[in-house]
Amino acid sequence: MTAKIIRGTEIGPVIREEIREETVRLKEQHGIVPGLVTIIVGNDPASVSYITGKQKTAKELGFYSVQEDVAKDVSEIALLALIDKYNKDPKIHGILVQLPLPKHINETKILYAIDPDKDVDGFHPVNVGRLMIGEAKFYPCTPYGIQQMLIRSGINVDGAEVVVVGRSNLVGKPISMMLVQKAKGANATVTMCHTGTKDLASHTRRADILIVAAGRPKAITADMVKEGAVVIDVGVNRIGMTPEGKAKLCGDVDFEAIKEKASAITPVPGGVGPMTITMLMLNTLRAAQYSVRPGALSVTGLKENNMETHVVSAKGKEVIIGDNLPTVLIGERINPFGKGPIKEGMVTGNMEPIAKMAIQQVQDGADILIISVAAFGVDENVILPKATAAVMEAVDVPICMESRNPIALEAALKLGCGRPIISSVTGEEAHLNDLLPLVQKYDTSLEIIASDASGIPNNAAKRLEILVHIAERAKEMGIGTERLIADCIAESSAVNSAAAILTMETMKLAKHVLGINLVLGASNVSFGLPERPVINAVFLSLAIQAGLNCAIVNAAKMKPYIMATDLLLGRDAKARRYTAYCRKLKSAAAR
Ligand code: NAP
Repeated sequence: MTAKIIRGTEIGPVIREEIREETVRLKEQHGIVPGLVTIIVGNDPASVSYITGKQKTAKELGFYSVQEDVAKDVSEIALLALIDKYNKDPKIHGILVQLPLPKHINETKILYAIDPDKDVDGFHPVNVGRLMIGEAKFYPCTPYGIQQMLIRSGINVDGAEVVVVGRSNLVGKPISMMLVQKAKGANATVTMCHTGTKDLASHTRRADILIVAAGRPKAITADMVKEGAVVIDVGVNRIGMTPEGKAKLCGDVDFEAIKEKASAITPVPGGVGPMTITMLMLNTLRAAQYSVRPGALSVTGLKENNMETHVVSAKGKEVIIGDNLPTVLIGERINPFGKGPIKEGMVTGNMEPIAKMAIQQVQDGADILIISVAAFGVDENVILPKATAAVMEAVDVPICMESRNPIALEAALKLGCGRPIISSVTGEEAHLNDLLPLVQKYDTSLEIIASDASGIPNNAAKRLEILVHIAERAKEMGIGTERLIADCIAESSAVNSAAAILTMETMKLAKHVLGINLVLGASNVSFGLPERPVINAVFLSLAIQAGLNCAIVNAAKMKPYIMATDLLLGRDAKARRYTAYCRKLKSAAAR
């Protein structure tokens, strides 16, 4: 077997191109330019060469970059003050201090002084801890590069036996922690080896994926590797000089012999090495994307965003969804739960109660209606198209279809109902495989939801990860983010006091990172609590301020609050919509 050669020199440029594109988008849509400061103390030639490479790459990617050349005899206090300056500088999202530092400076003290949210090297204990518990904000650059090489080379890590040789804080420990997480590109069984390991070869021979970061030339020989294994060689060892006077490098594995046995292998040089700077840039971009915190985005900030609008439609009527437009009101689900006549109609095929409810919701102010018929005793394949036809006949508003059943959905879509929304698409692979082709074929919009096979994550970054995954899958099929509406999920504040904040944090991240329209079933937030309409109304106001574009709510009860919020957020020129609505209510009451 001759192994496939995995080269950082090929994968790195692809990632950098993605970073460059995203940097342009971040600037255009949010006015944010990722900012990186690199700090070097003294003029050690190797350090100068590393820093020059980092600065050059940052500039090529369109970042705002600052180089701080500090004298070798700088005091620790002066260096701490410099870090403090950049911790407070809003133009800087990433701070990198080139190591090693002169002996009179406490390296740990300096690294720990960097704001963890700007620690793009991922060395701060807060970031190490986050990585450990599966909530990483920044992955250390070399391990991050290794994981990307595996993912982008199509190597399945899920369930694999991974053996890591080396337990340094720089490489061995973080890559082991990353690959053991229950996450995409991970979920492996990981063994970490070191100089205390007995019979190293008995471990390495078990590895489906062998990662070597020992710093010992050719420490791993062919007899220590399983046939067909994937071998990632992190080691960079100088073993003399080339005739041209350059350092001659070799890795930690016997490349020539092992490439005949492994299925894939990284070379040295040209393997893992070139990935590190790229991942530093990706971390800096992420830091810029995550720089918005709950409450930090002002209304004006959102107003300045040039987010794309999106049109959904019925046969005749169009509804435009976008920032700084009136919040779109989606009526409560037309479904069989707790609604006797509708359930009965769905079982017997009588669509009259559904049509009646559709008319009522539109009279109450709904702009879009959701139909969801999946229930015990209801034949979805028959009833979803039937209910859709009944609603289309009763009212002329866009329809949102909630179903996991591609046959039922296609039958309804064939009716030709303008551009509807297919609703509640999760990150589960089967779900995406079933529904994305329909979205593509019928040119529908898509409501995506921050949940996957493992359920709903309880942190915003993970929820965002799912939304990004779905958006990437959609993009592969030519479905752009402007056609997606993300549901960041509201849960009951009676169960989790952080629920509402978590939802809003996810919304802000989704808006910031994906530039996407947002929807919420807002009333979930008050489950189990008294005076639910009060809570729902307040939550809606907060959520709209955080970027919500569409609310799934009881139109009769919530319309006034939504209109009042839009008014206060300056989305209702001269309060005309609000005033007209109040007049209409008054004359209806007088009749
Ligand atoms: P390190 O701090 O020296 O750690 C080496 C680790 O390997 C230690 O945990 C050590 O065990 C273990 N080890 C050494 N010899 C071993 C052996 N014969 N059997 C089993 N375990 C052994 O090194 P590092 O910082 O992780 O770097 C490792 C290598 O990767 C170096 O060659 C470095 O230059 C390279 N590197 C490359 C990049 C890049 O390409 N961008 C980045 C970082 C590092 P003990 O803990 O028991 O001592």
